[in-house]
Amino acid sequence: MEVIFVGTGSGKTQLKRFHTSLLIKTGNHNLLVDTGDAISKALLIANLDINLIDSIYITHTHADHFSGIASLLTQMKMAKRIKPICLYIHNSFVSFARNFLYHSFLFPETFDFEMKIIGFNFDSEINIADILYLLPIKNGHISNKYNVNSIPDINFISSSVLIKNENILTYYSSDIDSISDLSPINKFQPKYLIVESTHILFDELIEFINYSKMQKTFLVHINDEDGIVENYNKLSNEIKSKIILTIDGMCGTLT
Ligand SMILES: [Zn+2]
Repeated sequence: MEVIFVGTGSGKTQLKRFHTSLLIKTGNHNLLVDTGDAISKALLIANLDINLIDSIYITHTHADHFSGIASLLTQMKMAKRIKPICLYIHNSFVSFARNFLYHSFLFPETFDFEMKIIGFNFDSEINIADILYLLPIKNGHISNKYNVNSIPDINFISSSVLIKNENILTYYSSDIDSISDLSPINKFQPKYLIVESTHILFDELIEFINYSKMQKTFLVHINDEDGIVENYNKLSNEIKSKIILTIDGMCGTLT
């Protein structure tokens, strides 16, 4: 499995990084994880054909992870796509996602390609393709921080995801609330970790990586004004050999 880091930035709009988005490539399936603002341009700059994408998984609906979906589907229509596509989003956001598209004047029923919006539940495995499975895991991003539950009829939930391909496990934190949201890693013991770096203290994250047994960790969701690069450069060569500070367009082979 290959992971192309289409974007590696945080929620802040930056000149050198698009918002974090991953293209997971197996032999016969291409899964895009998250479609934040400007995802279509990020894919264009990474020289990735949007019609190669077979499915999309949304971790949560913050603008840097979701708001580019309408534009991306518009580009697919303009590129005369005929290949079907599946959009995976948490069950409680399915009708919101459909309405978001309708309000963007996008009507999947009229597309030249079949588009399914498929709801997932936490802790329930999704078989994306032959040997590609995702396990959505609830994390505390958003819900722990604000009193959002006081807003009626709206769910605020966010997922991390365990990716299984040919029995190789990769854990993608997406956006979390704190280091405690990484605790499922102790249970699943993934070989690889892709972890955001905005909502966790850098020192805590390095300590966690040191303590855990991942073969390689990829840092994403980087705000270059946060001093992440400077902090990374101060690490010992031994720790640095286990951690990759990603940049847009980088490709990782996870085998
Ligand atoms: Zn984010």
